[in-house]
Parts: sequence; C-alpha cells; structure tokens
Amino acid sequence: MSKEENLECSFCGRKKAETDLLIAGMDAHICDKCIEQAHGIVQEEISDAKSSDLSKDLMLKKPKEIKEFLDQYIIGQLETKRAMSVAVYNHYKRLLQKKEDEDDVEIEKSNIVLVGETGTGKTLVAKTIARMLNIPFAIVDATVLTQAGYVGEDVESILSKLLQAADYDVEKAQRGIIFIDEIDKIARKGDNPSITRDVSGEGVQQALLKLLEGTVVNVAPKGGRKHPEQKFIEVDTKEILFIAGGAFAGIERFISKRLNMQAVGFGASLDEDKVDEENLLQYIIPSDLKAFGLIPEIIGRLPVLSYMNPLDAKTLRAILTEPKNAIIKQYSKLFTMDDVAFTIEEEALNYIVEKAVEYKLGARGLRSLCEAIFTDAMFDLPSSNEKEFNVTKEYAEAKLTNSALKKLKAAS
Ligand code: ADP
Repeated sequence: MSKEENLECSFCGRKKAETDLLIAGMDAHICDKCIEQAHGIVQEEISDAKSSDLSKDLMLKKPKEIKEFLDQYIIGQLETKRAMSVAVYNHYKRLLQKKEDEDDVEIEKSNIVLVGETGTGKTLVAKTIARMLNIPFAIVDATVLTQAGYVGEDVESILSKLLQAADYDVEKAQRGIIFIDEIDKIARKGDNPSITRDVSGEGVQQALLKLLEGTVVNVAPKGGRKHPEQKFIEVDTKEILFIAGGAFAGIERFISKRLNMQAVGFGASLDEDKVDEENLLQYIIPSDLKAFGLIPEIIGRLPVLSYMNPLDAKTLRAILTEPKNAIIKQYSKLFTMDDVAFTIEEEALNYIVEKAVEYKLGARGLRSLCEAIFTDAMFDLPSSNEKEFNVTKEYAEAKLTNSALKKLKAAS
C-alpha cells in the first residue's frame, strides 16, 4: 500500500479511500464528513450564544424602563404605553421561560391590538418599541392581504417583509415585531359570511390566526409570486410579537350600547359612575371587537387590548417640540447645519397647532404645516449670509396662505 493510501482522518479514522476529500493539517488530517459535522456544531453553538445574548439584552429592561423609553418619543397615551410595556416585558419573559423551565405552566403570547383614530401614534408606539429592543420591525397593511389563491398578497408575505427588515437573518426575524395596520378593515361584513365568499374578510382572519399563534411558514424571501424561482425560507412565528392597529371607526356605538345595557342590568346610577361620552374608546373590551366583526379566535390571539386617545390641541403642541426627535427639533438641526440659528416664537407654535386642529390635520399635519412654512427659508438661507432665522406668528401666517392650507387639507 502506498503511503498516500495509508492516510486516514484523525477525527473519525476513515481511510482516505472512504472519503471524498481528506485535508492535511500540521500533524493531522480531516475528512469532508468531519468538516461538515464540525461546521454544524459551530453553527449551533453560535446561534445558541446569539440567542442567549439576545435574551439577556432584552431582559435588561423592566416595564417601567420600557415606558420611560417610550415617554421620550410619545406624548400622552399613558394607558397604551403601560399596557405595551407590560406586554413586551412578558413576551420576552415567555421566550426565556421556554428554554429554562420544565413545568407545565406555559405563558401564552401577548400579541397586542391597539384601537384608535389614525394619526394618534399606533405605528409610532410599535416602531419605538422595536427600536428600543433593536430588533427587526415590519409594517404591513391588512387591507392588501387576501386568502391564498386570490389576487392580492398572501398572508405569508407579511413574513417576507420582516425577513427583509432583518437582512435575511432568520434567527433575528423570528424575534422581531410585526405591526399589522388597519386590522379593522378585515372585519367580517354582515352577519352571514357564507352567502358570498368574503375574500378579504373572514378568510384573511382565518389565515392570520396561525401566524399569530405560532407556526412554521415557508416564506418566499422576495415576497409575492413574481419570483417563482426563489428558494423558500422556513420562518417560525412563535416568538414574533404581533401588534395590530386599527381605527375601528364607529365602534363607539357598540361600546355605548353595551355600557347602557350594563347600567340598566346592574341598576347602577349613571351619576355614580359617569361615562365620558366624549371618549368612549377608553371603555373598550374584547367583546366590542367581536361586535365590530373580528372573529373570536383572532381576538383571543390578540389578548392585550389598548386604546389611543384623540390628540387635543395641548397634545399637538407638545408633539411639536417635546419628543426626542420632535419636528421642530429636526428643523432646528437642519438650519444649524447651515450655520443658521433657528428660533420660533410660542405664538407661532400655537398658530400651527390652531391650524392643525381647525383643518383636522392631526399629528401628521403638523409636519406638512411646518414644511409649508419653512420651505422658502430652507431654499433661500443656505445661499444667503443670514445667520439667524426667527419665526414669528406673522411669518407663519404669511406662508400659510388659504390656498396652501386647502392643499394640505385635500392631501390629508
Ligand atoms: P397611526 O399609526 O395611529 O395612524 P402614527 O403612529 O403613524 O399614527 O402617527 C403619525 C405621526 O404623528 C407619527 O409619526 C408622529 O410623528 C406623530 N404622532 C402621533 N401621535 C403622537 C404622539 N402621541 N406623540 C408623538 N408623536 C405623535
């Protein structure tokens, strides 16, 4: 036998002839099979280390600290910030528990549903939580989803977005947050869904159920059906936190009806427990979502229910200047980059808020109003010698002509 044929793998002892490849080291050899096995071990170790690091990171924040972080970016909405902080804390506690405990008490997923008018900060809350945790975050619109096989996007496409947000790192994606916007738009229309096929309503709710609960899904990484050649990636949704949001326009009538019935039923005097008719959302309970048209199974899988308060003038005023990345702070920074000291008078700020309220533009409108007021200055100042820019109410009024305001209203 030649010396060459005598060689064997120093790990498994296979002779050279029994291997496809034998690589020589200083005093040893390794065969292709052992390399593969070793690679598997390395991958497993790395991913275990990664996920325990992640868990440790996540567990550093207690609900109070989570809320304090949210406070920096979100004005008001105290109930939702508290509810979210607890839900997120419990969600990550649940992830840790899975690995460590052997007892039978299984903590269920704390997916969340937020009810409130558009522009009240639902997306902002979800996005801020994801930013704090430094995990991938995807926003999907429930209105584009349809049951598999129909025109529109399959429910699985939600996960392609999260994968993209995680740079195709499956491990990371599996611990991300998905915000499902306009969940109210897939409510069942009418009480008898069986007569006509309700393509975008109950069917989609059914398809969502499994995702919310936790299941392994084959995901087309690029999404959609336009790339039939792509390889599917398996994504497990059991550790993904879902936050659903919706305006649920008109849900107040179900809440009011229920409150009235309760008042009669228990003989309670309305004076004692006065109902705040202006903001009925604060009394919302899961059965109101059912009355609105969400199926009970979906409601069951979104166990944390919270509501957003409408934004009044005081809140809008605070939104302009208080959050860490408040709109006015952003403009100030932009001007500073051109060495222009930017100041805005209190009266001008109040004027912007007044217009946002008058034209019902909400928080999003604040930004468009500011754009309309500052665009001329942002165009002119960089090429001028001006080093100061003070915005008075008169200046703001002059820029916000009626036609500019009408345009903003039409665009909102
Ligand atoms: P929704 O998802 O409820 O429609 P968004 O979260 O998209 O509303 O809010 C729109 C924008 O309005 C946000 O990006 C943010 O700039 C601003 N905004 C709304 N509510 C608040 C709030 N409570 N605090 C700070 N900013 C807010």
